[in-house]
Amino acid sequence: MIVVIGSINMDLVLRVPRMPLRGETLTGGAFRTIPGGKGANQAVACARLGHTPVAMVGCVGDDAFGTTLRAALVADGIDVSHVTALPGVATGIASILVDEDGQNSIVIAGGANDELTPAHIDAALPLMARATIVVVQLETPPDTVRHAIAMAHGMGKTVVLNPAPAAALPASVLAQVDYLVPNEIEAAMLLGAHADADDYAGSAAALQAKGCRNVLVTLGAKGVHAALADGSRDFPARAVKAVDTTAAGDTFIGGLVAALAAGADPAGAIDLGQRAAAIGVTRHGAQTSIPYLNELEPS
Ligand code: ADP
Repeated sequence: MIVVIGSINMDLVLRVPRMPLRGETLTGGAFRTIPGGKGANQAVACARLGHTPVAMVGCVGDDAFGTTLRAALVADGIDVSHVTALPGVATGIASILVDEDGQNSIVIAGGANDELTPAHIDAALPLMARATIVVVQLETPPDTVRHAIAMAHGMGKTVVLNPAPAAALPASVLAQVDYLVPNEIEAAMLLGAHADADDYAGSAAALQAKGCRNVLVTLGAKGVHAALADGSRDFPARAVKAVDTTAAGDTFIGGLVAALAAGADPAGAIDLGQRAAAIGVTRHGAQTSIPYLNELEPS
């Protein structure tokens, strides 16, 4: 089993001719609600890109978005027994404006995601005991993330951390991570203000020196730089015409984790993740863009 611990959001996506000015009212184009949240996206990607059972640990509110998001996870065959609906709390949302150039502006209201506590992790320990891989991100409270990583590492699970949104983390946490998957900005942020996002190879090596077994820095259309336990390698991305890179990183991670769970080596898992993300960026939205295993081109 793969257990994904993290955020569950409804994305409120509105197309606009251009970003509104302060105090201005614009008429937008089509409005869509699309299931998102880094945690839920990664759980869906794990489920669509492999055959290993997937369980999600997270919180929604007891509102219509919460009901819809839970149903979306169930539709992908994901175990939601530890997705808690919290009374009197709003489900997390991301308000997203997308302009005609495809650039976006996003405001997130964490809502129920901010209420995921270490006690929710403890309640899910029997689930985690059945897992081989535990996946976490940083869209839920830091204490909870640290607790989840410590528990999973202590149980001998493979720990995958996507350190997004960007934040600094203590070396004691990084030392418990088997696969750290930042983009180049997140890699630099993990190392503090002195690090340079362009020197992603240096960042990967420095993060590995802090104790992460494998560091995979995603570089958008440039692919992935991997500092693996047995050496560093660059993996170019597939050449595609991207229309929307929302959830590209989440799709990559889902493919990576699904392949690792199926017994692939790191290079094979990176390849599957990149083949999946290359399809995802040619489609709009978060969970709407994540492909199924049978859609992937052979490598
Ligand atoms: P994030 O969205 O987390 O910043 P990236 O933009 O680095 O993540 O994208 C994650 C992965 O998705 C990349 O490593 C690559 O495999 C794939 N990807 C992203 N953008 C493109 C693109 N324009 N063309 C092909 N693959 C892409």
